[in-house]
Amino acid sequence: MSVVTRIAPSPTGDPHVGTAYQALFNSVFARQHGGKFIVRLEDTDRSRYNATSEGRILDMLDWLGIVPDASPRNEDDKGPYIQSQRAGLHRQYAEQLLASGAAYRAFDTTEELDERRKAAEARKDSYLGYDRRDRHLSAEESDWRAAAGEEFVIRLKAPLEGKTVVHDHLRGDVVFDNAELDDKVLLKRDGFPTYHLAAMVDDHLMGVTHVIRAEEWLTSTPIHQLILQGLGWQAPVWIHTPWLLSAGGKKYSKRRGDPSVEDFRNKGILPEALLNYLGMMGWTMPNGEEIFSVDDMVQHFSWERVSLGGSTFDVQKLKWLNGKYIREVLPLATVASRVHGFGTEHGYAQGIAEDKYFTQVVELMLPRFETLQEFWEKTAYFFGEDYPVTDKAAKPLAEGQDVLPKLREALAALPALTHDQTEPVLKALAEAQGLKVGKVMQPLRAAVAGTLESPGMFELLELLGKERVLARLDRMMK
Ligand code: GLU
Repeated sequence: MSVVTRIAPSPTGDPHVGTAYQALFNSVFARQHGGKFIVRLEDTDRSRYNATSEGRILDMLDWLGIVPDASPRNEDDKGPYIQSQRAGLHRQYAEQLLASGAAYRAFDTTEELDERRKAAEARKDSYLGYDRRDRHLSAEESDWRAAAGEEFVIRLKAPLEGKTVVHDHLRGDVVFDNAELDDKVLLKRDGFPTYHLAAMVDDHLMGVTHVIRAEEWLTSTPIHQLILQGLGWQAPVWIHTPWLLSAGGKKYSKRRGDPSVEDFRNKGILPEALLNYLGMMGWTMPNGEEIFSVDDMVQHFSWERVSLGGSTFDVQKLKWLNGKYIREVLPLATVASRVHGFGTEHGYAQGIAEDKYFTQVVELMLPRFETLQEFWEKTAYFFGEDYPVTDKAAKPLAEGQDVLPKLREALAALPALTHDQTEPVLKALAEAQGLKVGKVMQPLRAAVAGTLESPGMFELLELLGKERVLARLDRMMK
């Protein structure tokens, strides 16, 4: 059996972290088995449809470097991969379920349903699903009313007794009481399928062998299994991955304000780090190593190392990991080009060339930024004269006005501000003034960088260069 996995995101808004998480696990598993990973956009819920969302979900995958074997941007003979374009197929299979008696037409109006649901609530009924009013209509009456133009939905005829057993690859058998299943709508009044029908028809026709999806879908799986059974199709291997939780212990949710993938991208989180972090959330490397690539995952992945507990998404930990990628994992040239690309995209890099000087700045700053955005927030003084002076730097700058002219004089006398030349000169100057070295460095740093949190003084002077340093000292001496 050749493995086919899929993600089936609904284009309802910002691309979810959960979608990236599923994409990672689905694509890793498919690659590990030499199989196929496909992306299908489930856009049949027109009330929640968001037109920009489709492109943004696919852009997100591009950015992450997750390349589907088929998708709306890369159709093959199993497509189309946009679900609404397959509505004819879904309708056809709904008819088939109807003909075989696995489904039935229900003619209730929305108002009737609302009224009866409210009454059931008032009675404190434990079952609040569809009351199955039309389940027992005769085939003749059902056909006749449909032919007469009465509106209807097609509902699944779920068994009323017994159990449905879902075998989940991670959890073993999960047993559902049929009495608690709802006669779910499969085809809506507008002729569009619901998620339940569409997803199962498409999974089958697209040859999906492993449905790897979030735990929240587990309760829908008995319904899905009944649909497949009604159509005479074999169920895929079900794998429901553990919850992603947010700091408060609730389900990680964009709607409740947890960051989306685009939010992370806009802050300057690297795709490699985000994928590594998502991988870590669900799985551990056999050797316990926290830093791993998607390729490492493909090589070592196994479901045995997925823990069912659910993991808490910790944005600080992601930032820390991002910093590690910046400092230790990616080569300097790559980091420099990502930083520059980010700066261009977000308007920080105007007029700033991606040259040797730029790479030197990045290198010097490596220990001091964890996101690409932080780099730009901390480095204005490297790229222009219009840098701010922080409150903390203003004080030593004011207090150091006496020493600044002497500093300027000493530095001006040097042929170049290389580390080995400036260090002894500054130390000697401090000594001659009877000052601690810090008392000399702080005003100097405040003057040339506008902040006390810059990289090492000597490296900074060397990189800024003599001309710039002297000009800044002149300007800061009032
Ligand atoms: N369209 C569903 C979603 O938005 C897909 C669920 C599934 O994977 O079956 O998550």
